[in-house]
Amino acid sequence: MNNQSLKDISSPTRTKEIISKYGFTFKKSLGQNFLVDQNILARIVDAANLREDEGVLEIGPGIGALTEKLAREAGRVVAVEIDQRLLPILRDTLSVYPKVTVIHGDVLKLSLKEIFDQHFAKDQPVSVVANLPYYVTTPIVMKLLEEKLPLKQIVVMIQKEVAERMTASPGGKEYGSLSIAVQYYCEPSVELIVPRQAFVPQPNVDSAVIKLKVREKPPVDVDDEAFFFKVVQASFGQRRKTIANNLLGSFFQKGQRELLESILHSLSIDPTRRGETLSLEEYALLSNTLHKRL
Ligand code: SAM
Repeated sequence: MNNQSLKDISSPTRTKEIISKYGFTFKKSLGQNFLVDQNILARIVDAANLREDEGVLEIGPGIGALTEKLAREAGRVVAVEIDQRLLPILRDTLSVYPKVTVIHGDVLKLSLKEIFDQHFAKDQPVSVVANLPYYVTTPIVMKLLEEKLPLKQIVVMIQKEVAERMTASPGGKEYGSLSIAVQYYCEPSVELIVPRQAFVPQPNVDSAVIKLKVREKPPVDVDDEAFFFKVVQASFGQRRKTIANNLLGSFFQKGQRELLESILHSLSIDPTRRGETLSLEEYALLSNTLHKRL
């Protein structure tokens, strides 16, 4: 370990010093598990492979452990933190990194488009890199994807189990509407598994760093995205039910079972299959057909 990393915000001694200097107490309700493992932090930043002209949006900087490492690699770092108590701490710990801007707010409520317009250049590649608060992982990732921000990639620490759901293939129990939404917008890959000992306080679950490379265009043609996602949601409505029974309840009147079954047969989808066995391509085909016929 060199001198610099001994003094880094994330080193266990410096983290302890900062926390006691400010009398900071962790709020479980805000998912506050801070990273104190230099090696893991370095690997997150490596996975993002940032260039010095690029921008980074960090969600939840905490006391600035990851922010500092991002500031050393990227051209501009904007970090959104919900906890007012962390703002004076961040002003102190990040004072030597003028390229960092900290914004106080709830990432789920802020207009990210405005943040992008104000802080990043028009053609600047922007990555989201963060150790996400676990209680809101899925809403945050879905907001980033659905708002169609001009993002290059999302490299985030999340619960291992959620990472498995995001990368799951059809057929398994992890595969669901989250897998489909993420894979529709991105190419996901698990970059590293992180043991709970890398954090203070330690979370109750293991974690993973996932990289979501945002696609230029989805891998399937969908006529109406909102309808496509409704079909997907409905198909997983009750996992033990067949695809026909789930769709029947949501899109058809009583007595239309035959119509639905004939549509499914025309697409070579057996009505007794379950939602978790259909591929992204099959969902696209199904939603485009239902959209035309209903
Ligand atoms: N980046 C730091 C690290 O790696 O040590 C802290 C990560 S900690 C897992 C999550 C951070 O997200 C906390 O600082 C927490 O206060 C913040 N946070 C929680 N909910 C948030 C929200 N809705 N919007 C913005 N920040 C949030």
